[in-house]
Amino acid sequence: MRTKKIPKTHPRAESLRVREKVKEGYTEGIMVENGVIAHGRGEAFDYLLGELTIPEASKATKVAAAALLLANNPIISVNGNVATLAPKEVVKLAESVGAKIEVNLFHRTLGREIAIMKKMKTFGAKEVLGVGKAASLELKGLESSRRWVDPEGIMTADTVLAPLEDGDRTAALRKAGKTVITIDLNPLSRTAQTASITIVDNIVRAMPLIVEESTILRKIDKNDLKDMIKRFDNKVNLDKSLGYIANRLEKIASIRVNSQ
Ligand code: ATP
Repeated sequence: MRTKKIPKTHPRAESLRVREKVKEGYTEGIMVENGVIAHGRGEAFDYLLGELTIPEASKATKVAAAALLLANNPIISVNGNVATLAPKEVVKLAESVGAKIEVNLFHRTLGREIAIMKKMKTFGAKEVLGVGKAASLELKGLESSRRWVDPEGIMTADTVLAPLEDGDRTAALRKAGKTVITIDLNPLSRTAQTASITIVDNIVRAMPLIVEESTILRKIDKNDLKDMIKRFDNKVNLDKSLGYIANRLEKIASIRVNSQ
C-alpha cells in the first residue's frame, strides 16, 4: 500500500501520520470501519487537548504503570485500533511488567484475530491469547462478542489494561473484580468514567510513556507503589482533565474576543 508523504511542516503532521497508519490497519484487515470512526472521535478530543500529554495524563500513566507492576496476573487487551497504533509498545510493556497479551474484539472474526496475532508476533510477542477456540469462556454481563475471553488470560487476570475500550466491557470487567486501566481521549466516555485508572491521552503518546514509567518504577519499593495508587482518585483526575479542556477553550476564546 502506498503511504502518503506528509510534509514535516504541516501543522497536523503527526495526526496525519497516524491517519496513514489507520488506513494501513484497515487495509490489512486489522481495523474495521467502526474502529476508523472511533478513531475520529478520539481525534476530535485530541484537538481539544491540544494534541499533547496533559499533566493529569502523566499522573495517571505513572499510577497505571505502578498498578501493572503490582498485579499478580496483568493482561493487555488488544483490539484492532490498539494493534494498529501501538503494537511495538504493547509488546514492550508486556515484557516490562510481565503481562500477557489477549485479543478481544467487538467485531470478532477468526481472520481478524489471526491478523492481529500475526501483527503482535511480528513485533516480538511470544504468545497471544484469545484467538479462535482459546476464547472459550464468557465474561458475565456482556452481550457483545467481547464477552468471549481466554481462561488463561482476561478471565483469570486481576489487572486489565484495555485501551480504547467500550463502556459495557469496562463495567463487566469491574464487576468481575478486576482493576481496569484504560487509555481514552474522551474523559466523558463511559469507559473513562468506569475504569479504575483512566489515562486521557492518545494511545500513540500514552503507550511509550507507560513503558518508560514501568522501567523507572520497577526499581521502586512496592510499598511506595501501593501508596501511589492509594493516593490516586480517578474521578478527581478525570474532572481535572475536563477542567484542562475547559480552561484551554476559554483562553483561546478570550484571546479571540479581545483581539476583535
Ligand atoms: P463508551 O462506550 O466508553 O462510552 P464509545 O462508545 O465512544 O465509549 P468506542 O467507540 O467503543 O467507545 O471507543 C472508542 C473510544 O476510544 C472513544 O472514547 C474515543 O474517544 C477513544 N479513542 C479513539 N482513538 C483513540 C486514540 N488514538 N487514543 C486514545 N483514545 C482514542
